[in-house]
Amino acid sequence: MQWTPGGVSNDVEDRRGEGGGFSGMRLGTPHFGIGGILLLRILSLVFHRNLFTIFSSDAGSDQAFTTSAPASTDAENKEVQFVSFVLDDVQKTWQNLLPAQGGKQYRNAKLVLFRDASESACGEAQSAVGPFYCPEDEKVYLDLGFFEELKGRFGAPGEFAQAYVIAHEIGHHVQKILGIEAKVRRLQQSNRAEVNPLSVRMELQADCFAGIWANSTEQRKIIDNSDVDAGMRAAAAVGDDRLQKQATGRVRPESFTHGSSQQRTQWFQSGLQSGNISACDTFR
Ligand SMILES: [Zn+2]
Repeated sequence: MQWTPGGVSNDVEDRRGEGGGFSGMRLGTPHFGIGGILLLRILSLVFHRNLFTIFSSDAGSDQAFTTSAPASTDAENKEVQFVSFVLDDVQKTWQNLLPAQGGKQYRNAKLVLFRDASESACGEAQSAVGPFYCPEDEKVYLDLGFFEELKGRFGAPGEFAQAYVIAHEIGHHVQKILGIEAKVRRLQQSNRAEVNPLSVRMELQADCFAGIWANSTEQRKIIDNSDVDAGMRAAAAVGDDRLQKQATGRVRPESFTHGSSQQRTQWFQSGLQSGNISACDTFR
């Protein structure tokens, strides 16, 4: 991939210094647990006060504690710049394409970098679950350790495989903007038997949307054929990245399938070749 390090994206929210968010030892935020968080949320509603700030000893001092976190390595700093480059490029691409192709203005998602665990509006983000997009807060959650896993466990090395993961997650954000995510969630709630098949279609469409970005980068000579091969391997190899938010507000990872490797590469190709969301109707 052709890219030049250019600093950290404005849309990257770096929480790596927070030592694991709610699960960690950060002084400003005690460990409430999911039950405790829910309880505080309910009590906050009842009392019309944000009780999180009361139970956090001193929210204003959070910044000071990030400096005592483990120092980032040079390699990791480069990865942050790479993530920034890809994130900005994917989102710029959608800013250009979405009004014409989908009739909607694109709004940027944020990408949260964390270590081990962090809090999301969809529940706790954990490294073990892999990267995911939370439609509630419109943020992508990513632990850079996942890229190591991508190389090791999934056998999908290369920068484009990493870029593909980010483009796929932003694909879920595009689904949110287009109202597809809400529609699918309603269908899933009214017909439990359709939960898994609909999830597969959502995932395949995100693969296709990642392909649309790849089409744009190919035209701009950012990627070449070997990158595309790596992207295909990633599409075929990457495991589940979705947390299913239950109606109760609790979160539990689901073990639904993403469709076969063949389906995933096929839909990635469809986006790559067409560069158009009309070629990504996986619900047909
Ligand atoms: Zn996904």
